[in-house]
Amino acid sequence: MTSSPLALAIDLGGTKVEAALVDASGRLLPASRFRSPTGRASSSEELAASVTSVVVSALAALPEGAELLGVGIGSAGPIDVQEGLVSPLNLPAWRGYPLRDLVVSLLPDVPVVLRMDGQCIALAEHWVGAGQGCDNLMGMIVSTGIGGGLMLGGAVIPGPTGNAGHIGHVEVGGFDDICDCGGIGCVEGIASGPKTVAWANRQGWVGSTGEELSAAYAAGDEIAIAAVARSGRAIGQAIASATALVDLDLIAIGGGFSHVTPDIFGYINAAIQERVQFGFVTKAVAVPSALSGDGPLIGSAALIHRSQLVR
Ligand SMILES: [Zn+2]
Repeated sequence: MTSSPLALAIDLGGTKVEAALVDASGRLLPASRFRSPTGRASSSEELAASVTSVVVSALAALPEGAELLGVGIGSAGPIDVQEGLVSPLNLPAWRGYPLRDLVVSLLPDVPVVLRMDGQCIALAEHWVGAGQGCDNLMGMIVSTGIGGGLMLGGAVIPGPTGNAGHIGHVEVGGFDDICDCGGIGCVEGIASGPKTVAWANRQGWVGSTGEELSAAYAAGDEIAIAAVARSGRAIGQAIASATALVDLDLIAIGGGFSHVTPDIFGYINAAIQERVQFGFVTKAVAVPSALSGDGPLIGSAALIHRSQLVR
């Protein structure tokens, strides 16, 4: 039995889609969380079936008499926030897919809000994570890709298309790695988990996963250390550039590869500190996310529970 009104949260990513019921204090309802695979090879019909199955399952966990306030959807980008369309870079079957309409067809009687996953992370960090009390922050994910979202002046900034905060595709000086988006030297093309591993491989390191790179780093492997330092530096340069543009105080970083070693935050913050003439840049601090693996779903739920912060 719950007295708190609930939001249905959906998180659509490149490998899975998840849904859960989340209460007004940002807690997932036990046994309401469901996941289904997505992936590059999935057809559009398979992706729609995965979304439908997790939504129907989570909805079935709604306690009798509980109020459902609405549905928040966080999606990998790019998206079209006006039309409710998604085109996740790592889900090629969906280009301009009407995800919001699909969810509305399942839940026609409540509001359905779609935003980029990075904006949901920013909301979650501000609500229950490392950004509590901070109104000028970026939530950032460093994983198979690099994503993010901005909160400025206490409000999440979607931009006219919903794609503001795409920090992964900010170009970084001194690097010429080719990015899938068409850019050269995008931080995602340098410093994501797979790209860091690939760089280490090119230097002669033998291993294939971020976990192996993490172990090699901890064991003092010189190439692993150089690879992590290079990626941390690139992330820090991207953050410094973003801070020069929008005057951030805090950057909360989560995602699998952010755990490669706690030292990565040292490399990131050292790069930020190089902008010695700009105190407004060097004040920015990169910290580990304080969210658990529930973070993306909490952020999607915040689109409903914290709607006053969502533009
Ligand atoms: Zn790019």
